[in-house]
Formats: sequence, structure tokens, C-alpha cells
Amino acid sequence: MRKQIAAANWKMNLTVDKAETLLDNIISANINLSNDQLAVFAVPFPYLHLAQNIIGDNDNFYIAAQNCYSKKSGAYTGETSVEMLQSLNIKYVVVGHSERREYFEESNAFLAEKLSIALEYNITPIFCCGEPLSIRDAQTQNEFVAKQLEESLFIFSADDVQKIVIAYEPIWAIGTGKTATSEQAQEMHAYLRKVLTGKYGKDVAGNISILYGGSVKASNAKEIFSQPDVDGGLVGGASLIADEFITIIKSLK
Ligand code: PEP
Repeated sequence: MRKQIAAANWKMNLTVDKAETLLDNIISANINLSNDQLAVFAVPFPYLHLAQNIIGDNDNFYIAAQNCYSKKSGAYTGETSVEMLQSLNIKYVVVGHSERREYFEESNAFLAEKLSIALEYNITPIFCCGEPLSIRDAQTQNEFVAKQLEESLFIFSADDVQKIVIAYEPIWAIGTGKTATSEQAQEMHAYLRKVLTGKYGKDVAGNISILYGGSVKASNAKEIFSQPDVDGGLVGGASLIADEFITIIKSLK
């Protein structure tokens, strides 16, 4: 079933005491989520365990990792396997954030390997895609993002692809304060669903959650999330402020 998701991406921010206070404040707001609404917190690796304990058995609240490695285990110093995440009962992992693609040169093919191993361990990947400003200026964003999907997602069966959450994040809108308009977001999300329909059919495409990411904040979340093909958001900066993120969660449709 297609879910509406507010996902926080804390990136490499917050010391442990601040992380604890932030999550405590959000949980103590007692937000009631319906069955098809989720709040997910992608926290830094050292805080996964603590964060799991804080959210406890709050329905529809989940902790995510911000990354994982493509191998099961072994001599990969500094990396984190999905088997480790599974052993911590982590259910979500962000894969292919634009910062990973840019600073760590993660390719579409490498990301396909990460998606594959995450699915093997029953961890839901939140797969990020999105174009840089030069591509948007050249108006070739559709082709660019379709290629990211084709090269990372299209190796999967219809059953598996429905287990992946997609986050469309135009790079020019990440951390810049510049948000895509709700029309621009809807236009791309509808296009991505069309690409998925072409490969997997309408029912499968209709089951996939597609989140928007790029300077979502309390003041614009409701309008963006209200678009028919937008199923919530992946939120960086505004997810570090309890009141902002509480409002963003409450803006889910
Ligand atoms: C992100 O990190 O995925 C993101 C969208 O960041 P921001 O909300 O700060 O633009």
C-alpha cells in the first residue's frame, strides 16, 4: 500500500544530547498517525540504537540509517552492513542521497547493489534521485531522472520495486532555501509515475510512495504534500527543529 511519509534526514548534525532532546520533543508531541502515514528519522549511525529506544513502540514511527554498504560483511573498514541494521531492527535506509552521489561518487549501478542488499534483508530503501541546476536550466530533467530510475531500479521485479520508496530531490533545492513549486514537484512526480507505469504497469506504479525533498519546511509542507503524486517529503534542515518537523508530520495527507 502507498504510504504518506515524513522522513527526517539529520545528515551529519547534532551531538548526542541534542539528538536525544530533539527526538524526545517530537515524540512527546503525541502525534497521531493513521495507518498509511509514517514518520521516519534518518539519524547518524552512532545514534541508531538510542533513537530506536526513544521512539519505542510508537506506532508508525521508524528510525532509518542514512546509508549502507553493498556487501554482506567483511574487510570494509568504516562501512555499515544491512545485516547490522537488521540486527538493530532498523526498517529503513536512505540510498543514493545527492550528497553521497556527489562527494562519494556513488553511481547508479553501485546504488542498485545497495538497493538489492537492503531488499534482501527486508529493509526499505528510500532511494533518492534528482537533477542538478544545469540540467534543470537545460530543461532535460525528465530524461536525467528517468535514467537514474532505469539504471538503479529497473533490475528489480514488480514485487520488489514496490518495496522501494522514491525521494525526488532536485539538487538545486537541497539546503538552498529554494523550493520547487508544488506544480514543479507534481509535474516531476507524475512523470516518474508514468516512467514506472511504462515498465511495471499502473497498479505497481500507483503503489510506490514518491516523496519530495528540497527545502521543505513547516510553511510549505502542506501545499507540496497536497499534490496528488506527492506522498510526503524527505526533509533536511527543517527536521532539526522540533516544532518545524512536528508541523511537517502533521501536514501529511
Ligand atoms: C535533504 O537533505 O534530503 C534535504 C532535502 O535537505 P533540505 O530539506 O535541507 O533541503
